[in-house]
Amino acid sequence: MNIRLVIVLIGIACSSVLNAQVADSYPLPVQKLVKAYPETITGFDGSYIILANGNKVAYANDGKENKTHEELVNSNSVKDIFAFEYKKGKVTTLPKNHDPGRIRSEDLLKKMYGASAAEVQKTLTTIIWCPKLVNQKLKVTTINGVDKQLQKVSDELDRHPELKDYVLSAGTFVWRKVRGADRLSAHSFGTAIDVSIKYSNYWQWDCKCNNENVDLKYKNRIPQLIVDIFEKYGFIWGGKWYHYDTMHFEYRPELLIE
Ligand SMILES: [Zn+2]
Repeated sequence: MNIRLVIVLIGIACSSVLNAQVADSYPLPVQKLVKAYPETITGFDGSYIILANGNKVAYANDGKENKTHEELVNSNSVKDIFAFEYKKGKVTTLPKNHDPGRIRSEDLLKKMYGASAAEVQKTLTTIIWCPKLVNQKLKVTTINGVDKQLQKVSDELDRHPELKDYVLSAGTFVWRKVRGADRLSAHSFGTAIDVSIKYSNYWQWDCKCNNENVDLKYKNRIPQLIVDIFEKYGFIWGGKWYHYDTMHFEYRPELLIE
């Protein structure tokens, strides 16, 4: 082997060992984010998450501890994304206010996917959703390869004719706020999809309210197989929230890393 090539190879090996060591020193949530979004998140400087597009996002941007549920749900802090553990597969108990994934950092989402409807629109592509079962055209972002992951979900669901009645989508991209709240929905960023409106349950429809502190009785009619297929490709399910939204799936691979 050429000596110069050997030197270059040793150099590459050393720098990747160094990068791995740096990454090991990040707080666990930051390590998960770096792993989940290798295309857009490049590192951490101790306070800020560094993005490939030159943006920076504060890890804990409000410094508050011991937040109430309402404060958590309205939090914009990256650290709070991980306040509740999201469990893969079938979940049988949902403690009061357990909402894994319902907490998002709007700051991070805006800097990754776009800060306005026009900016997000520029990142969207069209996929053909379940061509054999329902054949719909859906708009989804190409950032972080979300379109490719959703295409894989579609390919797999499409092999299950028994799910035909459940996979019809009620929409993906729409720049809007969460119903009854002042924060943006994941649909604003082209990373979310609603399916099976006919068999969906939504906490606000049942309590006829938008009070976060309400006592709810969980309801779900979405088959577990659909949930398992979405989770396999990085999408979490709104049916694992105490404040359930069973038609809703969104791309949040950081919560699925074990
Ligand atoms: Zn939704």
